[in-house]
Amino acid sequence: MSVVTPAADVSVCAPLPVLGRDVTVPLVTGGEVTYAALDYAASAPALQRVWDDVAAYAPYYGSVHRGAGYLSQLSTDLFENSRRTVAEFLDCRADDQVVFTRSTTDSLNLLASALPTGCQVFVFETEHHASLLPWRDAHVTYLDAPDSPRRAVETLERALSGRDPHGPALVCVTGASNVTGELWPVRELAAAAHAHGVRIVLDAAQLAPHHPVSVRDLDVDWVAFSGHKLYAPFGSGVLAGRSDWLRAAEPYLAGGGASRKVGRRADGGVDVEWHEGAARHEASSPNVIGAYAIASACKALTEAGFDTLVAREQYLIRRVREGLADVPEVRFLSLFGEDAPRVGVLSFVVDGWNSSHFAAALSAEYGIGVRDGLFCAHPLVRTLLGAEAQAQGECGAPEAAPGEKSLNAVRVSFGAGT
Ligand code: PLP
Repeated sequence: MSVVTPAADVSVCAPLPVLGRDVTVPLVTGGEVTYAALDYAASAPALQRVWDDVAAYAPYYGSVHRGAGYLSQLSTDLFENSRRTVAEFLDCRADDQVVFTRSTTDSLNLLASALPTGCQVFVFETEHHASLLPWRDAHVTYLDAPDSPRRAVETLERALSGRDPHGPALVCVTGASNVTGELWPVRELAAAAHAHGVRIVLDAAQLAPHHPVSVRDLDVDWVAFSGHKLYAPFGSGVLAGRSDWLRAAEPYLAGGGASRKVGRRADGGVDVEWHEGAARHEASSPNVIGAYAIASACKALTEAGFDTLVAREQYLIRRVREGLADVPEVRFLSLFGEDAPRVGVLSFVVDGWNSSHFAAALSAEYGIGVRDGLFCAHPLVRTLLGAEAQAQGECGAPEAAPGEKSLNAVRVSFGAGT
């Protein structure tokens, strides 16, 4: 796949067989088909290195922590080494735990299930639903959308000053918005939280693929991210950070792998001793390929260095802005101001266009794949677009006739390979 300026002579939309399925893409005169995947914020294709590593390991796949045979031992080693690689990638503290999960959503739900009794949670209304919604059993304070990073810190400080200082509390914040791409002041928010004896979890789903994340430097208590956004789309995610709450909590899933010892009691019941480490929350047969793929992506990104990636993304952001500057109907979405630092994620509306039709036209006529809708961050997009912004289905877009006012947005996002 390559990113190209749509050729002026795109003339015919032709079905192209891709993996046995017909995908409609523009056929450029001369026979060359080009396609620009600009939806990395949703899911990113595997890096070649990740693909190669997974392919090399796949024939030797075996069960993890469950066998004496060579393949099982190899798989157990790869799984545990992957944990260490992720810990290094995130610059974790020596006593932090890395738990492999299915995704960021899964990681944050795991943490939500491990909150101490009476825990208060503070979360900005601007969060992705994955960080907004898991705290169902806690007392949650939803913080209003700030209009600058400084205001975000002030808003949090004000909320924390008013809290009952005795009970446990947690702040959940995203590192980079999946809607605006804007960077949040994570280090400052962590300092504010800790000054009030409150812990903080960083939703790094959008940050980690674009930016080095150091648990120590940011001084966050936990980090969550997804493999499929970090060029490792094999079904795994990560929750890394403090072990005490995780060790004290009931296992996220009950079953084999999480249990160390199970026996019958005299009264006929069952006694269970759960593991204390990461395994406590990794019941079931682990997804070793997913974990190994994440570790491979971590190594590839570390070796390549984020500088080149960031420079390329910033260039592409500028190109999109400049390219659309002459179109007065285009409005970019931002909370902190258009020039606020951001990762390679940019959303806009085109007045007079329904965004779903706009996105469909970009795909069918220009071969540019983008995302449209409210991006699983409905309160944020409503703040940015107005209360009439609508969602259809879970994260999708409403239907509206062409020419109707845009009720949702278009998002372009970049990553390694664009
Ligand atoms: N947090 C943010 C900021 C996201 O952008 C996303 C996905 O788009 C998530 C969390 C949820 O990630 P996943 O769907 O992999 O659980």
